Amino acid sequence: MSVVPFSDSIALVCLVAALVVLLMTPACARSVGATFKYSLAGALALLVFVSLSNVLEHAGITTALDAYEDYAEVLFVPLVAYILLGRSMTEQLEAAEAAEEQTRREHALLMSVVDTAPSSILVADSEGNVWFANDEARRYVEQPGDGASMVLVPGLRPVIARAVEAAPVRIVRRWAMLDGAERWFSISATRLTSSSDGGDHAVVAFQDVTERVAAEAELEEYREALEEQVDRRTSELLELNRQLTDANKTGQRLLANVSHEFRTPLNSIIGFTDLLLGETSGPLNAEQRRQLGFVNASGNQLLTIVESVLELARVEAGRGAVSLSVTELGHTVRDVVNPIGIIAEDRGITLTCVCEAAVTVWADVDKLGQIVRNLVTNAVKFTDPGGVVEVRLVVEVEEVLIQVADNGIGIAPEDQKRIFEAFEQVDRADRARVSGAGLGLSICRDLCGLLGYGLSLESEPGMGSTFTVHIPFEPDMAPTLVGETE
Ligand code: ADP
Repeated sequence: MSVVPFSDSIALVCLVAALVVLLMTPACARSVGATFKYSLAGALALLVFVSLSNVLEHAGITTALDAYEDYAEVLFVPLVAYILLGRSMTEQLEAAEAAEEQTRREHALLMSVVDTAPSSILVADSEGNVWFANDEARRYVEQPGDGASMVLVPGLRPVIARAVEAAPVRIVRRWAMLDGAERWFSISATRLTSSSDGGDHAVVAFQDVTERVAAEAELEEYREALEEQVDRRTSELLELNRQLTDANKTGQRLLANVSHEFRTPLNSIIGFTDLLLGETSGPLNAEQRRQLGFVNASGNQLLTIVESVLELARVEAGRGAVSLSVTELGHTVRDVVNPIGIIAEDRGITLTCVCEAAVTVWADVDKLGQIVRNLVTNAVKFTDPGGVVEVRLVVEVEEVLIQVADNGIGIAPEDQKRIFEAFEQVDRADRARVSGAGLGLSICRDLCGLLGYGLSLESEPGMGSTFTVHIPFEPDMAPTLVGETE
C-alpha cells in the first residue's frame, strides 16, 4: 500500500480548499463587492498552491503536486479575468447606485419644496385632469376614486386651456367654489414644455388671496373716505378763508371809514386849539396854555395815527397806483430828511445825510419819500438825546441802497420780524411809551413790496439799528449814475 507523503497531503488540501473557495464564493457572496473579495482569495490560494508545488519540487521533497499544478495554472487565468471584469462591473454598478441615490435625494428635496410651498402647484391638462398636485393644491382637487383627479375650482379649467393653447397666464380672479363660497385667486399658468406626451399640460401655481383682496378693498375704502374728508375739509377751509378775507376787507373798510371820519373833527380840534394858543380870542393864563398845549399835542398825535391807518388801508387795498418818474435819488432823500432835522435837533440828536452819490432812478417819489420818512422818524424817535442818525446812499453792483442807521436803543432779535406787522411795537417797560400806532414799518414793508424794493434790518439792543431799502437794477426801474443817462 502506497503512503501519500505529508507534504503532498498539504498541497492537495490547499488545491481542494482553493477549488472549494472558488466554487462556493459566488453562491455565498451577497454582493458583487464580496464576490470580488472571495475571487481574489481564490486566486491567491491558487498562487500559493502553485508556488508551494514548485518549492516542494525544487527542494526535492515531492513532485506529487505537479499533476495538479497545471489545473491550478489553467484556473488562475480565467479567475484573474473574472476578477478584473467583476471589479469594473462593481465600479459601474456602484456609480449607478450613487447616481440613483443622488437622484432620489434630489427628487425627495424637490417634492418637499413643492409640497411645503405656500402656493398650490399642480400639473393638469386642458380637460381639467390633474397629473400632479402638491399638498396645498390637493385641497382643491377631487379624487373620484377611479384614479382620475379633477380640478375642484371650475374657473381654473379655462385658464389651464389658455396656458396650454396660447400664452402664459397671470391673473387675479374671483371664482365660486363647488361649495358655493366665492374666493379670490392669484393664478399663473404656463405650458409644460417638457411634457412627455406632446405638451398639452400646464403647470399652474395659484394662491387663495381672498383675505388680501378684502384688506386691499378695505384700505381703498379708507383711502376714498379720507380723500372725501380731505376734499370736504379743504372746501370748508377755502370757504372759511373767503369769509375771513371778506371780514378782513370789511374790517379794513370800516377802519378806513372810521379813520376818515375822525379826520375832520380832529382837524377842528387842532385848528381851534392852535387859534386859542395863538391868543387870537384873548389872552391865556399859564395853566390854560399848558392844558391847551396837551390837547393840541394829543390831537396832532391822533391825527398822525389816523393818517397812518388810512395810508395802510390804501396800500393793503392795492390802491394808490405807482407813478414812476426819473428821480435824482440823493435829491429826493435830502428833501425828506431835512425837515426831520428840526425835530432831531429839538431832541438833541445829530441827523446827517450822506447822499452825495448822484444816481437817477425810475421811482415813485411820494412813496419812496414816505418810506424814507418813516424810517428816519423812527430812528430819531428811538435814539436817546446825544445820539446820531445817519442816512446814506450806497451804490452797489446790482442795487442802490438807502440806509438809515442810528445808535439808539436797538431791537432784540426776537422782535426784529414782528415789528414789520401792523400795530406791533416793542414793549419798553423801562421807558416812557413813544407816540405811534405801530404802523410805520408795516406801511414801509407794503410800499417796498409794491415798488419791488427789498427792506432789511440789522440791529443790536443798546447799539443801534440800520434799516436798508434795496432798490434793484431792474430793466424798468434801473438806477443809472448821472451822466450815463441819455
Ligand atoms: P411806531 O413807530 O408807530 O411804533 P413802527 O411800525 O414804525 O411803529 O415801528 C414799530 C416798532 O418798531 C416801534 O414801536 C419800535 O418799537 C420799533 N422800532 C422801529 N424803528 C426803530 C428803531 N430805529 N430803533 C429801535 N426800535 C425801532
